[in-house]
Amino acid sequence: RGTSPVPPDARPRLTVLSGPSGVGKSTVVSHMRKVHPEVWLSVSATTRKPRPGEKHGVHYFFVTDEEMDKLIANGELLEWAEFAGNRYGTPRDAVVERLEAGEPVLLEIELEGARQVKESMSDSLLVFLAPPNWDELVRRLTGRGTESAEVIERRLAAARVELAAESEFDTTLVNTSVEDVARELLALMEVV
Ligand code: 5GP
Repeated sequence: RGTSPVPPDARPRLTVLSGPSGVGKSTVVSHMRKVHPEVWLSVSATTRKPRPGEKHGVHYFFVTDEEMDKLIANGELLEWAEFAGNRYGTPRDAVVERLEAGEPVLLEIELEGARQVKESMSDSLLVFLAPPNWDELVRRLTGRGTESAEVIERRLAAARVELAAESEFDTTLVNTSVEDVARELLALMEVV
C-alpha cells in the first residue's frame, strides 16, 4: 500500500482527511497547524460534550440536539453524520467563503461525511489516514483513557467498517510518523 500520485492538473482546494477514529487524524492536523498556522481548518458543530481542554469555537462548536436539528433543517451543514452516538457536521458558509477566496481548506471528518463531501464537491481530494496496523489502532483507541469501555467498543466497531473504505479514497497516507504525514498532507494541499 502506498501513496498514489495525484494528477498534476488536479488542483483540489478542498481536502478531506478521514480515517478510523483513533488513527491520529487530529494529532496530524494539530502538528500541521503548528508548522503552518495559516492553513485554515473547518471547525465542526457537534452534539458531543467537550473533553477537558476543548474550547467552544476552537475545537468544535458544541451545540445542543435542538441546535443541531436546526443547522441540518436550514441546510447550514455541508455534510453531517452520526458517530458513536453523537452528531457532527461541517458549517457550509465558512468553507465556501474560504474556497471562493482561493484558499486551501481542510476538513478532518469521519468516513460518512467524507462520502457526502465527494458527492456535493466532486473535485475535492479525499485523503485516507491509515494506521500502520490494526494492533496499533486498538492500542491508540484504548490508550486515550478518556472514554468508557462501551464507547471504545463502539469506536472499534466503527473503525473496522472504516478501514474497509480505503478504496473509496483518492489517496492513502499511512500514519507511521506525525511529522511525515503532516508534510505529505501539506504537499497534497499544495501549501508546500
Ligand atoms: P471526536 O469525538 O473524537 O472529536 O470525533 C469523532 C469522529 O468525528 C472523528 O472521526 C472526527 O474526525 C469526526 N468528525 C469531527 N467533526 C466532524 C464533522 O464535522 N463531520 C463529520 N462527518 N465527522 C466529524
